[in-house]
Amino acid sequence: MLTAIVGVNWGDEGKGRMVDLLSEDYEVVVRYQGGNNAGHTVINSKGKFILNLLPSGILRPDTVNILGNGVLIDIQHLCEEIRRNREAGVEITPQQLKISERACICMPYHKLQDNLEEDRLADAKFGSTRRGIAYGYADKYMKKALRMEDLRDLAHLEKRVAQVAEWKDLTLNKGYGSQPLDVAELMNWLKTYGEPLLPFICDTTEYLEQAVDAGRNIMFEAQLGSLRDIDLGIYPYTTSSNTLAAYAPIGSGIPNCKIDKVIGIAKAYSSCVGEGPFVSEMFGEEGQALREAGSEYGAATGRPRRIGAFDLVASRYGVLLQGANAIALTKLDVLSYMDQIPVCTAYKINGEIVTRFPSGSRLMQAEPVIEYMPGFKCDISGCRKWEELPQAAQDYVLFIEKELHCPIAYISVGAERDQIIYR
Ligand code: GDP
Ligand code: MG
Repeated sequence: MLTAIVGVNWGDEGKGRMVDLLSEDYEVVVRYQGGNNAGHTVINSKGKFILNLLPSGILRPDTVNILGNGVLIDIQHLCEEIRRNREAGVEITPQQLKISERACICMPYHKLQDNLEEDRLADAKFGSTRRGIAYGYADKYMKKALRMEDLRDLAHLEKRVAQVAEWKDLTLNKGYGSQPLDVAELMNWLKTYGEPLLPFICDTTEYLEQAVDAGRNIMFEAQLGSLRDIDLGIYPYTTSSNTLAAYAPIGSGIPNCKIDKVIGIAKAYSSCVGEGPFVSEMFGEEGQALREAGSEYGAATGRPRRIGAFDLVASRYGVLLQGANAIALTKLDVLSYMDQIPVCTAYKINGEIVTRFPSGSRLMQAEPVIEYMPGFKCDISGCRKWEELPQAAQDYVLFIEKELHCPIAYISVGAERDQIIYR
């Protein structure tokens, strides 16, 4: 069984939480795209863990976790994330973690370039997390990236670093006027953070081919959500990789494999980090109340997330892009305080009602059409069965399910592993 766990919205839907829960039946969990620019928060009996690069299966000692070739790795960040989690009691050995030799490295100059450009843009900024992800992926496609496999051969690596640094300085030094890059310093960084990772680096494609042949259950874990996909999301306010399930086989290094099941994670309301169109956004006190109720502050950055009503237009498109067979609806408990629950059922663009998710400047002009469902006004975090949910909560779930044309198979009513309702 090959299953992908992906985001239906803008990210932060609770993918990490669902991977942590569902990975029990899977022997392998693979992260296939993205970098350390986003985060998954997982709370279980062992404590609270924030994961940026490590797959969420790392919290189960018998699970093999893979960082696929599609992931962009800041090796300093990864070393620190491993250290932090080991200190919290998580065992991380080369048996539990395997890193693709083909994954590209996010370098300090990518972060530098990200910062220089965000500063230059000032008020016109894109809301980058300033972790260098866009520049790391750009260099991958320019074929100027360094890869994890390069860390094995320092003489070869040094030649590559010298060539690339000369090229980067055409932009960084000659363009932005920053200090010329220091090859020795870059080599020192690569050695310091590369060496501890060497035991984990391998041909993960070969490992996964064998796992598939042996009939093992494999789970693919995405970062961010449909609407952040570089090709089909809210470009240019997207991330720099493909967040869709269709990319999982490629980013994992087994492009000839077909995914059996896609579980789309959707949140019972909307949130969005950074700039860009966010049609169902709630402002002022109304937004702040929901932000507080849902503790919507970034796991990677601590930034307050933008908050909005559940968006049927965006979510229907998100489900379609993912090809989801089932949905997990998370954070339903957060809506308990509401007298009535707002839902964005359509967009209005130049007076016209639109239900198909638009793109480009049409999306920028869209205004939300909001309808209200009755609130359930009680604590549902202890519910474990569908029948235990109050009628108004059931009605809300059924309404979303009907509009998304996809069964809601899981309802999450809390951050803890067991706060889940199977339907
Ligand atoms: P991800 O990036 O999709 O993995 O999501 P994040 O971890 O960034 O954000 C989800 C947040 O909501 C985390 O802090 C989770 O602990 C928390 N969470 C997940 N599911 C639920 C739920 O059903 N109820 C509540 N109250 N919190 C949840
Ligand atoms: Mg997140």
